[in-house]
Amino acid sequence: MVTDRLRIALQKKGRLADDSFALLKSCGLRFAIRGGGLLARVKNMPIDLLLVRDDDIPNFVANDAADIGIVGENVLVEEQLVAKTKLDADIAMRLGFSRCKLSLAAPDIGMVKSAKDLDGTKIATTYPGVTAKYLSVRGIDAKLVEMKGAVELAPSIGIAQSICDLVSSGATLEANGLTAFETILESEAVLIRSARDLSPAKADLLAKLMNRIDGVIKSSETKYIMLNAPKSQVAAITALLPGSDAPTIIPLAGSDDLVALQAVCTENIFWETLEDLKALGARAILVLPIEKMMS
Ligand code: ATP
Ligand code: ZN
Repeated sequence: MVTDRLRIALQKKGRLADDSFALLKSCGLRFAIRGGGLLARVKNMPIDLLLVRDDDIPNFVANDAADIGIVGENVLVEEQLVAKTKLDADIAMRLGFSRCKLSLAAPDIGMVKSAKDLDGTKIATTYPGVTAKYLSVRGIDAKLVEMKGAVELAPSIGIAQSICDLVSSGATLEANGLTAFETILESEAVLIRSARDLSPAKADLLAKLMNRIDGVIKSSETKYIMLNAPKSQVAAITALLPGSDAPTIIPLAGSDDLVALQAVCTENIFWETLEDLKALGARAILVLPIEKMMS
């Protein structure tokens, strides 16, 4: 690409869009998404956002319409499988949001109960690439009915005996009398890029952006915990803290046997952990979010 502004392809509208925008904003990018524009300019950095349908993102990155992109892994894998030649677009980083599964599902009352029953049946899907690969790897002889949407209706109108579709909570399946019986692919949002060399300026900017994304992801999972504890229990309490390094121990004014303990926990702290800490004698337990991290 001739411009020296880093171009990021993003879903314009849909289930990936808001979290993608929020992630970039947390990384310090300032921009506004308005109306029907295809390009949004980042005001404080040499970055442009290309706002498109998610299915186009892998191809745009592969064909140099964008330098990098944020897309569901499910879409990346599908576009790779249906492409005539291998797309030059690979995962540079996993982003941890938009988690979902591509699953096989069938009517609760029907002949298909498991993958073993699929031979000779029809499967409706918007993911022909991934579904066909699954069938061929297992030697299952089923026909695909390719649809562009509303796949969950296919069994009830008699055009297929099962479906292969995205599932997150399972509510849509349930509402249509369907049950998932096999997961084909687990997916989350991923940052993709091509193997092309970027200009030194863009490469620097991308490295900086990825560093910030890493910091945002880590800090969202990381908590700061503060508590008071009997000195005798410090070792037992430290052992309970999920993913923490050596804690800071501070004497408490006017107390010989109590200390204040502070630690960064890189994993989620659940209510159960707090209850266990309390049982060991910890008091005044505070769990605080961490806004930014850089190591
Ligand atoms: P487009 O108009 O851009 O083609 P779409 O209708 O294909 O959009 P969406 O429904 O917005 O796609 O989903 C985009 C991506 O979000 C999916 O490919 C998947 O990676 C992820 N996703 C899908 N369903 C969910 C869900 N229920 N929860 C979280 N993420 C999901
Ligand atoms: Zn799409």
